[in-house]
Amino acid sequence: MSLEDKKRRKFVKQMTGLGVLGLASGVGIYFAPDLKAKDLILRPPGAVSEDKFLKLCIKCGQCLQVCPYDSIELEDIDGGASVGMAYINPHKRGCYLCSAFPCMLACPSGALNHEHDDIKYVEMGIALLTNMNSCLALKNKNVPNSAVDKIYNHTKILSSNERKNKKVNITGLEKEKDKLQKIILDKLDKFRDKPCTICADMCPYPTPIDAIGMIKKDDGLIPEIKEACVGCGACVELCPVSILKIIPREDYTSLYKKGKNHG
Ligand code: SF4
Ligand code: SF4
Ligand code: SF4
Repeated sequence: MSLEDKKRRKFVKQMTGLGVLGLASGVGIYFAPDLKAKDLILRPPGAVSEDKFLKLCIKCGQCLQVCPYDSIELEDIDGGASVGMAYINPHKRGCYLCSAFPCMLACPSGALNHEHDDIKYVEMGIALLTNMNSCLALKNKNVPNSAVDKIYNHTKILSSNERKNKKVNITGLEKEKDKLQKIILDKLDKFRDKPCTICADMCPYPTPIDAIGMIKKDDGLIPEIKEACVGCGACVELCPVSILKIIPREDYTSLYKKGKNHG
């Protein structure tokens, strides 16, 4: 079995295991059934079509060098045809949609299109809520400390004291990159033991209400993905119970039936 086939099988198993297909029919989320494994890698913003990307990315790592959030990695041996090429694993670190898109501008090969350095061109994918019943907002449960701590654990720029105390110290004297990542943690800290609206409140889209909002469901709330979502994956990284994922290279219209993504 080829690596592509293995990835495809793994993906289908994961999606079925998470109940995505059941959820789709159960609450009126319409799920596109024809996703292809080769389309399922989340690329940095500005990435050209996957076929072109595979030809153009020269594995130089320039984009990841300039990313202030440490969002980009190069695919390891499991990447099959695209081993060594740039991608984003939103479960580890989403993209925070820098206004100047340094990743695109640093790309020397055209794999990330310089002309797309504006949010209106960003089409990384679309977010999907995979297990509504586990949403803390629906269950009226507060955000546990451990959920915030896990983001501290994988944030690379922290001092040993900040990591140990799980509290950032923003002095204004740190490098821009450090400051930006600390701002995320500082914002996230405010959700400790508070009701969860993290996905909606920390979405980095310039007008987040156009990308995601909280709507009433039973006695609680659930997130509603909206048309402007660009699939940056920040909500995937930050969700305390890991029930969001990104479907790369799909958009709102292709993934959800227009105007009805929750029943
Ligand atoms: S937009 Fe910013 S955070 Fe996102 S991948 Fe590019 S450099 Fe990194
Ligand atoms: S809802 Fe916001 S944070 Fe989540 S993927 Fe979409 S644009 Fe990014
Ligand atoms: S981040 Fe969003 S989806 Fe995740 S538990 Fe909180 S409200 Fe629910």
